[in-house]
Amino acid sequence: MTLLCSTCGGPHQHRLMTPQEQARAKQQLGLRAVYDLWLCENVVDAESGRRCRTLRRWGRTNPFPSPVKLLPPE
Ligand SMILES: [Zn+2]
Repeated sequence: MTLLCSTCGGPHQHRLMTPQEQARAKQQLGLRAVYDLWLCENVVDAESGRRCRTLRRWGRTNPFPSPVKLLPPE
């Protein structure tokens, strides 16, 4: 799904999180419901293939006071 990313500043591919990522997001954000958060898949570092991972909601580009990136798994 192509949605606007507040970090990348343009439309980029987003996807819903896996169950593991949802668990991580709940822990990171202290939220009970994260099923409607979309993850930015834009590759921000071509060399490592690192992706943006900024979270947004379907209807809101900025659901948080400042942009939040899902942290990598521990
Ligand atoms: Zn992004």
